[in-house]
Amino acid sequence: MTKVSPLHPRAESLRIRERLVDGFNAGLVVPEGLAAHGRGEAFDYILGEQTTKHARRAIEATAAMLLLAKHPVISVNGNVAALVPVDVAKLAKAINAKIEVNLFHGSVKREVAIARWLRKHGAKEVLGTGKKFSIRINEIHSNRRKVDRRGIAAADVVLVPLEDGDRTEALKKLGKRVIAIDLNPMSRTAQAADITIVDNIVRAMPLLIKTAGRLSYQPRARLRKKAKNFDNRANLRATFRAVRERLNLSK
Ligand code: ATP
Ligand code: MG
Repeated sequence: MTKVSPLHPRAESLRIRERLVDGFNAGLVVPEGLAAHGRGEAFDYILGEQTTKHARRAIEATAAMLLLAKHPVISVNGNVAALVPVDVAKLAKAINAKIEVNLFHGSVKREVAIARWLRKHGAKEVLGTGKKFSIRINEIHSNRRKVDRRGIAAADVVLVPLEDGDRTEALKKLGKRVIAIDLNPMSRTAQAADITIVDNIVRAMPLLIKTAGRLSYQPRARLRKKAKNFDNRANLRATFRAVRERLNLSK
């Protein structure tokens, strides 16, 4: 890993890139994952590389929905594993969720490498590797139709950070509640999810863990109200407005 100077104006962004490059060299991330990160970076730049109040609202609703879920599952791909492995383990513990490896560009070798990497960073159990428990869902046409019957197949709520649109729509068709973390408020994923956190996953995950910890002491009726009152369309519209305002200011 090359050392990024803390004086560089984009130091944090460069450090995140380094994490992905390390993940690529370790066989967790595919080249397409590096390109997808670039798309995310562009939106992050426009958003000012900070968590908006709209993202905070989505995080609050997410924590409530995850705490209320019967079988919550966190779906993990190579980028997620490379960027926030410790946070994935911590969040799973905080909300009692299962972790499942689910890859767009799937290979058994990469699945196993990601599962091992997550365990090394504190995850107790990682589903989604091997054939024994895997089943296919016909709504999905890519490799990702393979899901674990103990995980996503049985889930009522699925957290899908950095997800592809096809899969998000398929999970919705299967009757799952879907929560996305996606810097692009225009992506099909962002539009199809029940809750979209428009924020960088490296900022959103620690906040989500903290919020889940705080809300875990609240009565369930209060959590239900929080989850029910959240309007994803309205929140995305507010995010677009915030983006427009920022672009106007830079004229
Ligand atoms: P969709 O398929 O949902 O229409 P897409 O095809 O534009 O979206 P994909 O390549 O399928 O995008 O998925 C990658 C998504 O992840 C992109 O929308 C990108 O903005 C987002 N993304 C990339 N890196 C991050 C990150 N660090 N934090 C949050 N989101 C990110
Ligand atoms: Mg896509």
